[in-house]
Order: sequence, then C-alpha cells, then structure tokens
Amino acid sequence: MSGDPFPNDDPTEVRMNPQTRNIIVVGGGTAGSVLAARLSEDPGVSVTLLEAGPDHDAYDAAVLEPSRASAAWEGATPNATTPMLLENGGAIPMIQGRLLGGTSAVNGLATLRGLPPDYDAWAAAGLEGWGWDDVVSTFIAAERDCDFGSSPLHGSTGPLPVRRWRRDELSRAQRAYYDGMVEVGEPEAADINDPSQLPGLGVFPVTIDEDGKRVTTSLAYLTPEVRGRENLTIRTNAAVAKIAVADGRATGVTLDSGEQLEADEIVVAAGAIWSPMLLFRSGIGPADHLSEYGITVHADLPVGSTMSDHIGPGLPYRHDGPRGGVGGPAQTLLVGASNGTDIDYHAFPVAPVPSEDQTVFMMAVFSLRSSGRGSVRLGDTLEADPIVKVPPLPDDAPDRLRHAFDRIAKWEQSAAARELGCEALMPLDLNAADAVSTALERVTLSYGHMTSTCPMGSVLDADCRVRGVDGLRVVDASSMPTIPSGNTYLGCVMVAERVARKMAAIAREA
Ligand SMILES: Cc1cc2nc3c(=O)[nH]c(=O)nc-3n(C[C@H](O)[C@H](O)[C@H](O)COP(=O)(O)OP(=O)(O)OC[C@H]3O[C@@H](n4cnc5c(N)ncnc54)[C@H](O)[C@@H]3O)c2cc1C
Repeated sequence: MSGDPFPNDDPTEVRMNPQTRNIIVVGGGTAGSVLAARLSEDPGVSVTLLEAGPDHDAYDAAVLEPSRASAAWEGATPNATTPMLLENGGAIPMIQGRLLGGTSAVNGLATLRGLPPDYDAWAAAGLEGWGWDDVVSTFIAAERDCDFGSSPLHGSTGPLPVRRWRRDELSRAQRAYYDGMVEVGEPEAADINDPSQLPGLGVFPVTIDEDGKRVTTSLAYLTPEVRGRENLTIRTNAAVAKIAVADGRATGVTLDSGEQLEADEIVVAAGAIWSPMLLFRSGIGPADHLSEYGITVHADLPVGSTMSDHIGPGLPYRHDGPRGGVGGPAQTLLVGASNGTDIDYHAFPVAPVPSEDQTVFMMAVFSLRSSGRGSVRLGDTLEADPIVKVPPLPDDAPDRLRHAFDRIAKWEQSAAARELGCEALMPLDLNAADAVSTALERVTLSYGHMTSTCPMGSVLDADCRVRGVDGLRVVDASSMPTIPSGNTYLGCVMVAERVARKMAAIAREA
C-alpha cells in the first residue's frame, strides 16, 4: 500500500451543511447498491438512492435461478435493451438490468477480478490508489469465499458469498469441455482468481448462496438491516432525467416525473451506457456533440468516447439430449495465453437454457483486450435511445485468438467431446489461417462488459469526480480507465467500495 490511499487533497470538497450532508445516488444497480450501503454507514450523511426500475422484492425465479439467466437476457427481467452496432453493419442486442441490483441481477454470475497488470496500469497512468496492491485488499474484503475462506488471496467475512460450481451442478457440455481440455493437456487451475495459477483451465467462481441462488449486489449490500437505517431512502421506479448544474456545481436532479430533488453531492451509477447518457442530457460531454442538440455545455469532456468491451467469435454446437446441471451460463473456462503468460482470452461453452431433446450451446472465445474505440452517443433526439458502437477488436486479436481455436480443435477430437456427441452447427476448419475472421463474420459476441465511457484520468479524476463540475461523481463500470482482463461486475463492486471509503474519509476530515 502506498501511503494513505484516501488523501483529502481537494480544497473544493467542503461540507455544505455540517449537520447532514445530502447525497443522491443515481442508479441502484451493481455499484449503486454498494455505494448506498457504504455511504449510509455514516449517520451524519443522508443518502437517497434513486433507481429507475422496480425493487428486488419483485425478483422472480428468472432472476434468482442461475440456469435461467438467459431467460433474463431474452427479456424475462426488467431491462433496457440497446442494439450495439458492429463495424461490419451488424448489431448485438445488449441488455442492462433495470431493477434494484441492476445488471448483477441478469448477468452470468461469473466473479473474476482481472489481473494485477490491469490495475498497475491504472496506477502507472497517474491514478493513485488504484494499483493491484491497493485494490486486492478491497476484492478480499468484499467476498466471503466458501471454498478458500480466509487466505492471503481470499476473504471470509465480506458481503458477497462466492464459490465455484460443483461438478454435479455443471451442464453436460461444460463437463465434457472440462474433461476434454484436461485430456488434451491443459493445466488445471483450482482458483482462476489466483494469477499465479494462470494460464489454466478452471471453474468459474460465482456469487451464489448456499442454495445455489443468485445473490445480486442489492441483496448482498441492501440487507433489511441496512434498509432500516433512518438516513437511507431507497426510491424505486424513480428514473432521473437530468442533473441540475449551476455555476460549475451539481445542485440536484430532476426525475422523469418532473419532481426536483436538491443534493450536496450526486453520485451517478447508472451503468456504462446510461451514465454517459445522463451526463449528455445534463450538459456534460463533447461540446460539438451536445451543441448539435442545443444543449448548454457545462463541461466539455470526452464522455462516451472510449468505450471498451470484451468481444469475440462464437462457435455454435449441439448434442443430443438434455442440457443437464443447474449451474448458470458461465461454468468452466479456459483462461488462455497466446504468448507464454500473456493472458489474453477466455474460451468456454455458454451453457444453454434447460432443454430436453437436443441442446444447442455456443463456444464463446472472448478477447480480453479492447481497442477502447467503442462509443455511446445521443440518438436522433434527446429522448431517443442511445447509439452505441462496439469497440473493434485490436489489430492483433485475430492472431491471438487463433491459439484458442487450436485448443478447441484439439478438444473436438477428445474422447469427452466425442462421447457427448458434440456436433458443430457451422462447421469450420479451426486450423485455417482465416478461421477467426470467418467465425467473427458469422457470429460476433459481446461479454456485456462495457466499461470506460466516463473514465478516470480524462472525464474523472482519481476519486471519480467529474472534472469541472463540483459535487458530481460517476462510480460504476463507466469509471474504469481501461477494461480489466476478466468479467467486470466484481470490478464495479471494488470501484464503488473504494470510492465510498474515500468519500467517508473526506467527510470525516471536513
Ligand atoms: C448479459 C450480461 C452478462 C454478463 N455477465 C457477467 C458475468 O457473468 N460476470 C461479470 O462479472 N460481469 C458480467 N456482466 C457485466 C457486469 O454485470 C456489468 O459490468 C456490471 O454489472 C455493471 O454494473 P454497473 O453498476 O456499472 O451498472 P448496472 O448494474 O447496470 O446498474 C445501473 C443501474 O442504474 C439504473 N439506472 C439507469 N439509468 C437510470 C436513471 N436515469 N435513473 C435512475 N436509475 C437509472 C439501472 O436501472 C440499473 O439498476 C454481464 C453483463 C451482461 C449485460
């Protein structure tokens, strides 16, 4: 750890009212639930959480049953669906959870941290307090790891219950994938959150309870006890239309209903697509873009200009008979390296919805590198849906992904894959020089890991404060300066935990 990770070095950060400081959190999703819980630990602060969707008491089986996650992706759960446009003219329909718990209520439950170099690069870019040695303690503190408990890399007392799928919970395709990859010589990693065990073949850690049910961040953090706090108000079905900015300071919000609320500080946690949209509508973003819509510009910042995501090709397969197992869609995976230890892709079958006669599954191969050249922009009108462009893959990604294809080609020949009766639905010579580009033309997938649309370093400072607008922060997937080499939900929890602690430290010192 380098010195005090939470220095109070900003003289503009003052308490407007020493008795009660009113904080509004916009969005009760993955990060917003953590923020509301942590910020309201200080009785001197009054926190209002405004969530556009319904409360988590409206959760039904499609939310909590891991094996039904893909039903959520097909619309069974309240969500905002946006087409993400591909360079080749295609589009990927992308959902974001629109309910308390946000996208942690609809995602694949995978609970990975990313790798030390990801965060060391944040620190090296001048973002103090975000290096691996700083953030790993927050990852450990957030989890209650049921497999590894209290150990140098894991925690046993945090709000998030984490464990790996058991073998009897795996689908038949996932079991065959694991067994076949072992058969062809891939090294096993008991804990794929341990960087020293990578590259390797492992089982996804997931955030589920003892009964195998999903635990969203709202269930984990906004417990009945937390919700009982007098200084925390949770308002659901309360979408924020705009942030009021006057004389360089955010002063409050206007809801879709027209209701106005004042605040000393506003923390936006509406996710990587909707946080930038809210900033645009509030006059914060690229001046040329905003002026096309006649919006008064309060801060000319590159909001929505550097979106990252993990994308890659999908290879569809089928086998006879039922899917089997109860696990969620992400179960066993190969964390791969194309260059020694240069970890740069994930390959795993997306376990399909339960079925009886035959089972179709998608072998997903995701590049963990992003060009960061995706974008979010306002649509035809101020009220219209956003225009979201998927970041193109970095130029060297197809070469790197060929290593994954080589391994899948070997797996196809394994006894485990043959026993499953696995059949490619779009046959392809996986060893051909153009196999990756052909597969990408047929099926391009997104992991749903959109980040960096309001990144620390350009739009935000290292404490997630919006540059040029006092009293306003963005704390969610948007805030990440670059995308980590792993699934992004746990990173959102980590960012929210750390910024909430920084805000508490600042308030204590004021
Ligand atoms: C299909 C899919 C599968 C995924 N699978 C995984 C996985 O297995 N593992 C993993 O780590 N990551 C996964 N991810 C990514 C991960 O879930 C997200 O990166 C993370 O949850 C984003 O958290 P967030 O806090 O930024 O946004 P969200 O969790 O989306 O929260 C935003 C919240 O803001 C609310 N909101 C939006 N606009 C407004 C407004 N104007 N006013 C008030 N409230 C508003 C929304 O309703 C929502 O509750 C997946 C993503 C998708 C889409």
